[in-house]
Amino acid sequence: MGDTVTLEPLEKIVFCDFDGTITAQETFVAVLKQFTPDLAAELIPKMYALELTLREGVLQLLESMPSSVYGEILDFAAAQPLRPGLSEFLDFLQAQAVPFVVITGGLKAMVEAAIPTLLPKIQAVHGAEIDTQGAYFKVHSPALGDSELVSKVDIMQRYPAEQTIVIGDSVTDLKMALVGDVVFARDRLAQYLGDRNVSYHPWNDFADVQKTLAQLWQKNRTDCA
Ligand SMILES: [Mg+2]
Repeated sequence: MGDTVTLEPLEKIVFCDFDGTITAQETFVAVLKQFTPDLAAELIPKMYALELTLREGVLQLLESMPSSVYGEILDFAAAQPLRPGLSEFLDFLQAQAVPFVVITGGLKAMVEAAIPTLLPKIQAVHGAEIDTQGAYFKVHSPALGDSELVSKVDIMQRYPAEQTIVIGDSVTDLKMALVGDVVFARDRLAQYLGDRNVSYHPWNDFADVQKTLAQLWQKNRTDCA
């Protein structure tokens, strides 16, 4: 078994959401509410209630936006406060050669605008890409799912690893959390997982995540010694 596998699986990898996870607030939802308020008021509650798929809802909302607001959206993303401890957490992961991959259900460009100085410490950013050539946004997904605009699980599968760590906060992280080995959940994601009796580590900032992982990995080393 495994002799024919050419890509050596990673030992560990961290998959991290962006909105409300790296940012302190739900940036993408705020963008949708600000730039397409009427449709957002109608569709967002349906998505939270799991009555409307993220794929349909987010696509409709994005494609209702004029291309002229793209720059404003990136400026908005760049001004968002971040959840504390990310830079230190990335250093901690780098010291142990554990890659950190950002997967957003929103726009890849918003991630890049929000954390430009941290990008060199990040393995990759995956998210929807916007074509602004026409009058309105045209959306390209890196991994279109049946029900999601960006299938985070499909992207996870591109990085085979022995232990996957998932960090998230909301409905777009649910499927990823269900397949992850170690899950950090806050806010709505914690509630969704609790409802399904799935265990998770609660967290509030990246120092919490780092502390828990340091303990967990230390314990594993001791167990294996
Ligand atoms: Mg989120």
